[in-house]
Amino acid sequence: MKKFTDWLFEQIDMSVIGTENVIDKISANYDKAKVAIDLVRKYDQTLPQQAKLLLDISTVAPLSKNVYGLYNSTENTNILGPEVEQKMALRFGKQVWEKYKEKLEHLPLAVLKKQLKVYPEIDLNKIRTSSVINVNINRNRQAWMGKPNADALAILEIASTIVHEATHAMDVKNGINPTEDRAIAAERKFKEWVYANMKTLINDPVLKAVGFENIAAGP
Ligand SMILES: [Zn+2]
Repeated sequence: MKKFTDWLFEQIDMSVIGTENVIDKISANYDKAKVAIDLVRKYDQTLPQQAKLLLDISTVAPLSKNVYGLYNSTENTNILGPEVEQKMALRFGKQVWEKYKEKLEHLPLAVLKKQLKVYPEIDLNKIRTSSVINVNINRNRQAWMGKPNADALAILEIASTIVHEATHAMDVKNGINPTEDRAIAAERKFKEWVYANMKTLINDPVLKAVGFENIAAGP
């Protein structure tokens, strides 16, 4: 049987780590979910590097559990990278390193960095963590189904859920206790940005096509 960690690694596309790109697994059943991810990416581009939400998100995955979204820190994997791995093998010996590698890959990033701080040869900035966030597309759409501008509002809802779950992921990465208050505040800030920048956003033909300008006054 395949180990859970093997499965987890197969979910990681190294090329998306440390970028605002993610593996989109939510658009298969609702292609406009792609627009929601793009909207969060646009927002991310306005944020300072340490506040970018999608940098350490590898995958946005579908969810059937009846909640808007879910983030589970056990789905995190630390990516140490070849340089750090090589230095670890030199420092501890290849056998010891290989024995503990998997353990280190699943420690909270803040804990891992704290433990490695005593080894000056290791560049902690090279270590990244990769998180998966889960979004229940139907649950997000249901909130607006049958209403005018349902697609635009569903896109905004899905994007807000991504912001919410990515905020939890970022808190865990930074060693902060993730609270609902912080995630809800991040959602609010994101929505404020959307409404404040509506005129610019609808220059994007995709957002215009789904009727974003029609929700400028709010739902
Ligand atoms: Zn939450």
